Amino acid sequence: MENKKELRTWLDDFKLNHPLVIAGPCSAETEDQLLKIAHELKDTDASILRAGIWKPRTRPGNFEGVGALGLKWLQTAKKETGMLTTTEVANKTHVELALKHDIDVLWIGARTTVSPFIIQEIADALKGTDKIVLVKNPINPDLPLWLGALERLYTADITKLGAIHRGFSTYEKTRYRNNPEWQIPIELQNRFPDLPLICDPSHIAGRRDIIFDICQTALDLNFDGLMVETHYDPDNAWSDAKQQITPTSLIQMMIDLKIRKTTDTEADYKNALNTLRTQIDVVDHQLTDMLGKRMKISDKIGALKKEKNVAILQTKRWNEILGKMILEGEQNNLSEEFVLKIFKAIHQESINHQKKIING
Ligand code: PEP
Ligand code: MN
Repeated sequence: MENKKELRTWLDDFKLNHPLVIAGPCSAETEDQLLKIAHELKDTDASILRAGIWKPRTRPGNFEGVGALGLKWLQTAKKETGMLTTTEVANKTHVELALKHDIDVLWIGARTTVSPFIIQEIADALKGTDKIVLVKNPINPDLPLWLGALERLYTADITKLGAIHRGFSTYEKTRYRNNPEWQIPIELQNRFPDLPLICDPSHIAGRRDIIFDICQTALDLNFDGLMVETHYDPDNAWSDAKQQITPTSLIQMMIDLKIRKTTDTEADYKNALNTLRTQIDVVDHQLTDMLGKRMKISDKIGALKKEKNVAILQTKRWNEILGKMILEGEQNNLSEEFVLKIFKAIHQESINHQKKIING
């Protein structure tokens, strides 16, 4: 998949806007619902209509989608509005049915990307077609698994590919439904700059009020598009009610978002970027230097503890440090989550150093 320009061509072939906007309900519920949403989206920035018809639900007993019937509704929506259509496929049968109904773009859900067996089955079912396939990240923060799925498709000659970032599942509750872990899509982008990258703020957020901010971050990170769950009556949606926004909100959001240019050829832009990157390099050096210094101090403490035969872990002192750092972090515009992660890692390294000294 190394640097294949063809990965991007479908964006140009369809003359899709930058950013590409995919919108529509989490689930197709009724034909009227889907058509109403499609018509409300028709003359907006959205060029692809999304609707899930086979819904992967975490627990049984919830609405599991209308099934193949929904494919006909998508076809009608396409005929009436001219929008392209997309739905999620999770097995061979879904692929065959979607192909039969001329769905333009297929997406692979997070729960499917985790399984190389199913991905292979889907890749085999798609072989010989020229479908556009968008692969969501796996639910766990595992870049190789995400890449593996893309490679399986690429190896089956599916070259019109894209990746969708929808955040990653965590056991600890955060402000997100699925933690964005932006470093993972950034790494994907660095490795495959020609692979179109789309952000799904809806499943990252799990709630309406932070969708805008997530979209802005994605655009600032040079994402190529957005996939936003959209419903005319979000509160009464049959799935993911809390995170859907109305087509009117989507229109307003697209007006309010600062959209970056895709080109990087302008000299000014390059210079400014280089300067900032250099500044970052300098700060990164300082960071590792300071960390090295901190560990040296910690080593001395380790030596003292050894002398006095005192336990390495001093919980009270550690909690005090954490509390202080969270407050200082706040003043420096650092999230609590970030400060906790960093200091837990630093603390662990400190403990490792001291262990070596005490046992050594
Ligand atoms: C969806 O897009 O509705 C969906 C089920 O997404 P994910 O696979 O990201 O959970
Ligand atoms: Mn959903």
